[in-house]
Amino acid sequence: MLIDSHAHLEMPEFRKDLDEVVQRAKEAGVEYIFTVGTERKDWNRALEIARRYPSVYAILGVHPHNAQEIDGHTYGVLTKLCQDERVRAYGEIGLDFYRNLSPREIQLKRFREQIGLARELRLPIVIHDRDAHQETLEILKSEKAGELGGIIHCFSGDYRMAKECIDMGFVISVPGSITFKNAEPFQDIIRRLPLESLLVETDAPYLTPVPFRGKRNEPSYVRYTAQKVAELKGVPFEEVAEVTTANALRVYGLDERKPL
Ligand SMILES: [Zn+2]
Ligand SMILES: [Zn+2]
Repeated sequence: MLIDSHAHLEMPEFRKDLDEVVQRAKEAGVEYIFTVGTERKDWNRALEIARRYPSVYAILGVHPHNAQEIDGHTYGVLTKLCQDERVRAYGEIGLDFYRNLSPREIQLKRFREQIGLARELRLPIVIHDRDAHQETLEILKSEKAGELGGIIHCFSGDYRMAKECIDMGFVISVPGSITFKNAEPFQDIIRRLPLESLLVETDAPYLTPVPFRGKRNEPSYVRYTAQKVAELKGVPFEEVAEVTTANALRVYGLDERKPL
């Protein structure tokens, strides 16, 4: 059993064959998929997908790319949608200083605000950090975000950052890029981190692992990421599957629930 801790099934890439994608995941042993609605136009569809498939849960929030679209209604709409029991976390929120699709000052402000909203909603948070490691750490610390717990998704920082996040109460989610040839520095970090602090994710339709690199990613491929983690840590695949699944269920507050 595996869990894809982060995918985007509401994106247009899955419009045509979502039933098959969810079915293939099940056949590959992926018991749950967490789909992330990152902007207003995607929230309802993410939630609708989570209600339609027993194996899919939703995560809702405003991505740093869309930070400048937040207006006076945004948090009210999110507050309402997040009452649904299919919503298991708030996100993805954070900073993206690589693409800078929203001005940095606005990203910083909205990141802090959304940690506050997640606290009100009593949800763990899913963090997106690209080329903004220092600023991300500073905000997580000053907002005491560790009290909420959650996930650093598509982790791309160094070992020290990973350690700091784990010490704060977060887990580190490993994407398919761990299988890439040039991933040696990242692979080394994963070797050194405890399995008890790791999740696996696809971020589908992006970041497709080897051997499907270049094609559309989908949740069933999360097994290649888990396989790579097993290889790096020198433990059986089953152990990685079991422990990362338990970690994900714990973070998303589903560990009391029986598998469907
Ligand atoms: Zn992201
Ligand atoms: Zn994402």
